[in-house]
This record gives sequence, C-alpha cells and structure tokens, in this order.
Amino acid sequence: MTYDNANIFAKILRGEIPSKKIYEDDFVLAFHDVTPQAPVHALVIPKGIYTDQADFALRASEAEIVGFERAVAKVARELGLSAAGYRIVANMGVYGGQEVPHYHVHILGGKKLGPMLPKE
Ligand code: 5GP
Repeated sequence: MTYDNANIFAKILRGEIPSKKIYEDDFVLAFHDVTPQAPVHALVIPKGIYTDQADFALRASEAEIVGFERAVAKVARELGLSAAGYRIVANMGVYGGQEVPHYHVHILGGKKLGPMLPKE
C-alpha cells in the first residue's frame, strides 16, 4: 500500500481537518473516532508517515515504536478503560477492512464487546 498524503488522518495531523483530540505527544496523536462503534472509540496514530502496522513495525525507529505503544496504553487509561478492559484493533489492507491508509490503532471499550468477529 502506498502512502497517500491526502488521506484523512494526514489532513488531521496537518490541522486541515478538526478532530476531538484526546492526547498528543512527539510521537502520536489520539482522537475520538467520528463514527464510534462502541461507547468509547478512540484512534491513535503515529505522527510519522506509515501506511499500516507492518510498515510501522518494520520502518519506524525504536523511539517511535516505544512512544506509540506507551501512548496507546496512556490513552486507554485516560479514557477510564483500564479496570473493565477494552479492545485494540489494527485493520490491515483489503481483507482487514482498512479504510484509511495511515497506520492507526482503534481503542474500543465502555461495554462488553462480545466476540471478536461475527459468527459465520
Ligand atoms: P479503518 O477502517 O481504516 O481501520 O478505520 C478508519 C476509521 O477512521 C473508521 O473507524 C472511521 O470512522 C474513522 N474516520 C474516518 N474519517 C474520519 C474523520 O474525519 N475523523 C475521525 N475522527 N475519524 C474518522
């Protein structure tokens, strides 16, 4: 997957489109999903240009990876999800249902989420 500078998260990072910010540091931006699929639905994105989790894992610096992972945990804690639990999802490519080609992690919580995938 090639990186598209016009993708919606690149625009959010450049401040061209507003977002409901939860957390920001040198490595990441976290904001609420515009179409929440759970009572709490946050997105965490790296500030660097990476299309998906594999691209990030293979090309990002160790500082970026550590910063990202720590930020995901911090955001979940700040959203009050730690005690009850929550789900982290990273969709990849066509079969994974990835819509936005800038790496992001979904943090979903606020209720019992049920099975990971619908039963066939
Ligand atoms: P994906 O399917 O790529 O894993 O997830 C993309 C997510 O981005 C979806 O959950 C979708 O609701 C969210 N999204 C798409 N456009 C916007 C936007 O403009 N603002 C925010 N906050 N979320 C968006």
